[in-house]
Amino acid sequence: MPKNIKDKAEEMVEETVSEPLPKFKVERKATPLVPSAKRHPDIRAGICEFCGLLDKKVPLDKQYTICPHYNDVDIFCTYCGKGEEIIKDRALHIYELDDEPGKLIIVCDDYQCRNKHNQRFNLGR
Ligand SMILES: [Zn+2]
Ligand SMILES: [Zn+2]
Repeated sequence: MPKNIKDKAEEMVEETVSEPLPKFKVERKATPLVPSAKRHPDIRAGICEFCGLLDKKVPLDKQYTICPHYNDVDIFCTYCGKGEEIIKDRALHIYELDDEPGKLIIVCDDYQCRNKHNQRFNLGR
């Protein structure tokens, strides 16, 4: 192969290689199908699982009303709407939606409430 043609070929190869590869990014607009939420301490029989027994002068099932997590929160189950009447003999799981900070979801340990919650968040499978 004559020298000048070989040089030309090498030049062309080099040009192709040094050409920067385009980097594509796909636009993402879809929101996740399953909402995400973070756990807050449970309230078990009126006692905040994080704080425990705070003041022996306060009834056991009202301990959550003096703990820093829930002292100004109106506690009732998001799914069945029951509040004070179930607090003392139920365990409540409490979540905060990542999409809506400050909004709590409270789930009592009623089978149907747990079920509704698990389906919504795709948990427990
Ligand atoms: Zn607490
Ligand atoms: Zn409930």
